[in-house]
Amino acid sequence: MITVEEILRKQDLRGTACRRFIINGLLESDRALSENELKGDFPELFDRVTFYRTLITLEEHGIIHKIVLNDNSVKYALNSHHQNENNLHSHFHCEECDEVLCLEGKTRFEAELPDNFVSHSVFVVIEGFCADCASHIK
Ligand SMILES: [Zn+2]
Ligand SMILES: [Zn+2]
Repeated sequence: MITVEEILRKQDLRGTACRRFIINGLLESDRALSENELKGDFPELFDRVTFYRTLITLEEHGIIHKIVLNDNSVKYALNSHHQNENNLHSHFHCEECDEVLCLEGKTRFEAELPDNFVSHSVFVVIEGFCADCASHIK
């Protein structure tokens, strides 16, 4: 299991408290987390601007990626959670409990780009019910 320090060192990033806090939170979670879910029991630990800027820094360094959902809410996940270095992967969003997962595998979104367009990332969100919710909803 990769550690917070290893992730930061790989990107040559200083380990500020906020960076450590966010990476650690995502490492301990098997799902994507919103800003509020990340803050969890410590909503006042970092001021909003610091927290927001840190998320952007981590994203720019390829440590985390964000998933924008249908209602425009945003969740974050660690890039190291999946092998797919090229950023091509799908997500699952449970409409009932709001859980968001990065999916492994080759569920690729096929699209023909117009000439000379350059693609950097593809994020597909599959909406539905997770196993838990599906078993409760009939
Ligand atoms: Zn669910
Ligand atoms: Zn993902």
